[in-house]
Amino acid sequence: MKPRGPDLGPKAPRSLKVGGVVPFTATDYPGQIAAVVFVQGCPWRCAYCHNPHLQPRTRKGAFAWQAVLDLLARRVGLLDAVVFSGGEPTGDPALGQTIRDVKALGFKVGLHTAGTHPRRLRELLPLVDWVGLDIKAAFGDYADVTRVASSGKHALASLEAVQASGVQYECRTTLHPDLLPESEILKLAQTLSAMNITNYALQVFRTEGCADDQLNAVSMAGYPDPALIGRIAALFPAFTLRRA
Ligand code: SF4
Repeated sequence: MKPRGPDLGPKAPRSLKVGGVVPFTATDYPGQIAAVVFVQGCPWRCAYCHNPHLQPRTRKGAFAWQAVLDLLARRVGLLDAVVFSGGEPTGDPALGQTIRDVKALGFKVGLHTAGTHPRRLRELLPLVDWVGLDIKAAFGDYADVTRVASSGKHALASLEAVQASGVQYECRTTLHPDLLPESEILKLAQTLSAMNITNYALQVFRTEGCADDQLNAVSMAGYPDPALIGRIAALFPAFTLRRA
């Protein structure tokens, strides 16, 4: 008979793999003072990624989740919310328990996601108070940005899950002329408007953190055309243009 070890009960959940923490921000969750927890790991490879060092997951993570939780506990009363960002937080199987830990301290929870893992996102949405969802391109052209086949299918399923959940959310698109020509930006905005997205943001590419020299060398002067921005703004009840 095969030897058996002692019964250790249910397998202990793994801890979140934390790649970094920003203890205080007023810009990552609309209207809320928040801390941001950056989660390691992302299956996509966008050339404009601002955190390429977070794409791989290390064996232990850069920070122990318990140490981060202790930090957050000392911030009760000073912060409104905790935002999980990345990397791609929904790729971490420990995110659900981690969110429960944070909610037990009384914080609201925000989630930045590119929609890489729609099934897990669907499970997490009832725990989350606000979502910032990246929409990278027309869903059929996603691989041009993410360099991963079928990524658009996952992003679309994630968007549909967010809409069905009733959670507050913003869709946002990062703009770079090499990846998203102006004609494509308008078509994408029209698609999202037709899908009843009410809160949309365009974020003009910043070189900060980006490791792609070719993208970094392109001037953003005059891009995108202000007239185009005006047309897009008119498609949404709430619209924001973010520039560096
Ligand atoms: S989905 Fe986000 S984290 Fe992942 S590679 Fe793209 S920009 Fe970076």
